[in-house]
Amino acid sequence: MLNCTKKWIALLLSACCLTTALTGCVSFRPAPGVGRDTTPSDLTDVTDADTAGTGAPDSTDIGTDSSAPDTTEPPETTPPPPSESRVSVLAVGDNLIHESVYLDAKKRAADGAEYDFVPMYAPIADTVAAADIAFINQETPMAGKEYGYSGYPTFNSPREVAEALVEVGFDVVNLATNHLFDKHNAGAQATVEYMQSLPVTTIGAYLNQEDYENIRVTEVNGIRIAWVSFSQKSNYAYNPAQHSVIMPMMNNDEAIRARVKAADQIADFVIVSAHWGEEVAEIYPETRRLASLIAEAGADVILGHHSHILQGVEWITTADGSRTLVAYSLGNFISTQYYAQNMVGGMLAFDIVMKDGVCRIESPILHPTVTQYSLNRDSLEVYLLEDYTEALAKAHGTIYHSPSFSLAWIYKHVTSIITDEFLPAYFE
Ligand SMILES: [Zn+2]
Repeated sequence: MLNCTKKWIALLLSACCLTTALTGCVSFRPAPGVGRDTTPSDLTDVTDADTAGTGAPDSTDIGTDSSAPDTTEPPETTPPPPSESRVSVLAVGDNLIHESVYLDAKKRAADGAEYDFVPMYAPIADTVAAADIAFINQETPMAGKEYGYSGYPTFNSPREVAEALVEVGFDVVNLATNHLFDKHNAGAQATVEYMQSLPVTTIGAYLNQEDYENIRVTEVNGIRIAWVSFSQKSNYAYNPAQHSVIMPMMNNDEAIRARVKAADQIADFVIVSAHWGEEVAEIYPETRRLASLIAEAGADVILGHHSHILQGVEWITTADGSRTLVAYSLGNFISTQYYAQNMVGGMLAFDIVMKDGVCRIESPILHPTVTQYSLNRDSLEVYLLEDYTEALAKAHGTIYHSPSFSLAWIYKHVTSIITDEFLPAYFE
């Protein structure tokens, strides 16, 4: 937990300068509407230090005849090596592929493709691509065509969904959900094998014990982030003793604690994906208890999902005085659920900054998102709320079930759940 290990202090002196120069704090460019926290001074400090630390020899220090009179300025002191690196992280909730979602993707496919989900994500694609690391909860399995595609209640989504996530720029995909085993162990295994063949980090489902023990770590700009994932439920009677695929469950406090601590040992920063809670906006006491347990075990950020409704974002202060950021539910990212509250999700954006061997979270902001679909429940698109319009709201198919759906309703809904501290500047 925020305990960039001592080895990093040593490494910072030797390598961080080069790492940041090569991979770059300066490469962080917030996408429109995301990352308002980056100030010019953040970038300037690092850039100046890099330039000074890697520049040409200082002629006043080298080759000077010691017998010559000292008429020049005092030798410059060597500036300290740059000690700050930064990773921008973005996270969204449930990618919930109902039948009407994949039928829409089928209509939009061209050039011999069977499904094309990419256009649905187009309005947010630049934002996702701009983040150093982007996380998504893949709610539904992708066992393969031979299992037959299906929507609610036992899902099997076309694999073009995952291809779209890769193309849009997601880097970390969670599979630990109540639906992973909808097509039983074989379907879960086929899903995991497929996801592991893609250029993304797959978490929450593992092919065997060895795979499970290999806690995934992503390293960006010299910051090592460990990813841990749990699901509170499985709709299918998942039995770890009988099924080969391992999905870490939230049914054993000691196992949860051990897993998070193990992640904390091998990384600078720990992010926990938590598929938990109930399908209501209220955060249940058991969810809060689990969040506290996970925070105390060493998690720096908890990304919650499963409720299909946005829930609150908070800081949890642990016994040692450090703080864990928890988003109890990021809501839906895409779905064709009926009601207005299921159309509003959250894109949590924050920076991890490592300076002088210590990590911190900077400026966490929950950017609301809106899933749009037509009166015919097609033409899906995901928007950032700041790009959403009243005209879109009026044309939204959710009005059959939620006639009051409008921009004003969305703002009221969001501000009833998310405190000002975590809202974008345009809410002010
Ligand atoms: Zn779920």
